[in-house]
Amino acid sequence: MSIKENLHRIKSLLPKEVTLIVVTKTQPIEKLQEVYNAGHKIFGENKVQELVDKYEVLPKDIQWHLIGHLQSNKVKYIAPFVSLIHSVDSLKLLQEINKQAEKNNRIINCLLQIYIAKEETKFGLDFQEAEELIASTELKVLKNIKIVGFMGMATNTENKTQISSEFQLLQHFYEKYRQLETFNLKLEILSMGMSSDYGLAIENGSTMIRVGSSIFGQRD
Ligand SMILES: *Cc1c(COP(=O)(O)O)cnc(C)c1O
Repeated sequence: MSIKENLHRIKSLLPKEVTLIVVTKTQPIEKLQEVYNAGHKIFGENKVQELVDKYEVLPKDIQWHLIGHLQSNKVKYIAPFVSLIHSVDSLKLLQEINKQAEKNNRIINCLLQIYIAKEETKFGLDFQEAEELIASTELKVLKNIKIVGFMGMATNTENKTQISSEFQLLQHFYEKYRQLETFNLKLEILSMGMSSDYGLAIENGSTMIRVGSSIFGQRD
């Protein structure tokens, strides 16, 4: 099937409260242009350099999401335009995002990436670290960031029960913090689910899915 057909098939099946992020990492500009021409304008990249390069050549009404691990020294390159950072995993990173956002005279929306997988390789805060960050006095002085939700990745396994239970843990954590509202924290986004598991993620409360290979085909 074509990119356009894949995109429309996936979108037609999504509940209306779920936002699709088309993950364009490793894809050439022509393919991003195809997605854009099909009417979709929310893209996710996992590397800063690739995100910046693509931003520069594509139409300016695209919303760019950074979904991969972010190093503090690279925040400055995306701060002028990024619309959501999914991968905040430390107070230090959040402080740098705040600083760069201030320089650009804007507020940058962020998700805390929470570690839910039973794997060594995934980045993120555990539940306790996230609670500590949310309660910290250091957070309360950051005027140019807003924490708008959580992101999580399930274990890469065929075991649906395990994937579901990992997503469910994060959903419960999200629900617990939905009641909290401060000037720089109000949770409205739960970013969970990729090509292999977005159905299970939506069953467990996801409001934002990040899908690449189901749209473009398997990456090399
Ligand atoms: C690559 C990636 C995705 C999309 O993966 P697919 O399996 O291609 O859908 C989603 N989230 C993150 C953080 C990624 O790096």
